[in-house]
Amino acid sequence: MGRTDARTVELETVIGLEVHAQVLTRSKMYCTCSARYADAPPNTHVCPTCCGLPGAMPVMNRAAIESVILTGLALNCEIPGFCKLDRKNYVYPDLPKGYQISQYDLPLCVDGWLEFVVDGATVRAGITRVHIEEDTGRLVHRTDAMGAEISLVDLNRSGVPLMEIVGEPDLRSADQAREYLVALRQSLRYIGVSTGNMEEGAFRCDANISVREVGGPLGSKVEIKNMNSFRAVERALRYEEQRQREVLAVGGTIPQETRGWVEAQGITVSQRSKEQAHDYRYFPEPDIPPMHVGAELVEAVRGRLPELPNARRSRFMEDYALSPADSALLTLEREIGDVYEDVVAGGDRDRARQAANWIVNDVMGLQKAKGLPADTLPLSVAQLRDLLDLVGSGAVSARAAKEVLPELADGEMPRDAAARLNLLALENEDEVRQAAIETLAAYPAAAADFRGGKQAAIGRLIGETIKRTGGRAKPDQVRALLIEELGRQ
Ligand SMILES: [Zn+2]
Repeated sequence: MGRTDARTVELETVIGLEVHAQVLTRSKMYCTCSARYADAPPNTHVCPTCCGLPGAMPVMNRAAIESVILTGLALNCEIPGFCKLDRKNYVYPDLPKGYQISQYDLPLCVDGWLEFVVDGATVRAGITRVHIEEDTGRLVHRTDAMGAEISLVDLNRSGVPLMEIVGEPDLRSADQAREYLVALRQSLRYIGVSTGNMEEGAFRCDANISVREVGGPLGSKVEIKNMNSFRAVERALRYEEQRQREVLAVGGTIPQETRGWVEAQGITVSQRSKEQAHDYRYFPEPDIPPMHVGAELVEAVRGRLPELPNARRSRFMEDYALSPADSALLTLEREIGDVYEDVVAGGDRDRARQAANWIVNDVMGLQKAKGLPADTLPLSVAQLRDLLDLVGSGAVSARAAKEVLPELADGEMPRDAAARLNLLALENEDEVRQAAIETLAAYPAAAADFRGGKQAAIGRLIGETIKRTGGRAKPDQVRALLIEELGRQ
């Protein structure tokens, strides 16, 4: 890009993401050690294979392979009939073999795409490939009793199945990158192949970003690492986009390099240049033969695909007449969507909409307040059904029901809790009439307004009367009794 042009041409940002996701399996990728290492004492889930001892032979984990194929199918990929594993060589203390068994030129899945919504518009981004590899061990840095800085190696994570999902450079903003990640994580959780937990490192993202003249050739890309949350990815990309544009605006050039995100300072810093880039010296893994992936296996795996988030969101909008926002919230986690469908089963659209309102507005608020995981609501299907019946029949006012929710004991039915809390609607007409009479005495001006023909004045009187009954009187009954009493005096 010329120096003078740089100030006038329109620039666009180009982003491609590489995601590493741990594959949920019982055992590791190439040995029978348990892959569930999170709470285990260091170096207890290890064997000669995942410790990288000479002569130990890897054995392929079939469940992990099927999970990657399932992922590829969920991401609309093609599954080539033939693939192989390759050694990716590098030296690091958490990698005892000195190489990872990964895939280089013949991955399990290729040429897919992922759709997601940004500001109400659907965006489609290409998926270059999905391949299988293995995780490394972990280094724990600490200060020992003598005050020396030491690093300890824990190999529990070494050999845990990992898949890499490489996206095409189709993303044009930090917002799009964030929503792509959210949608990808959501899909992986729907099909049950990964927890997608970013804080625990089960879902990690590196980003490639460059800025170019609109429609022009790609600029040199900068790779950003060390982002540990969706928010960090978004902030890092926003920062880097701005930095590159500022450099280009004054006629500078962007070197190809790897930069690290420094969360505390909100900046990226250079880690290594193109010249220092790794040469991984890939070569075919000699201990594991290449794989034929037959059409039969692919079709068997395809049969395990559940309804995916986008399809489910559209169906919720159609079947239950829900807004796009409510449909999105109710389908964010597969389990929540399941609960919703169980609650509204057999009911009409009104009930479907009411159930959505209660879950999205009140129950999810309670879920957050209680610190529950995203896939767990604080109410069971039976409790939610009882809540809807209770409010629908008028046995409890909506206002009173909102008071019942946070008071529910484990497994307690809302009807029982409402009775316990004395929040069931007043059935006794005398009590409601008494409250109406007291209200009229307390608000003579409003009563006079109504008698003088100001119909709207009754709203205030209804509200005050309901308040006098502790929110338990039904509005229709209060209105009727107030009009009776207003006529009487
Ligand atoms: Zn092992």
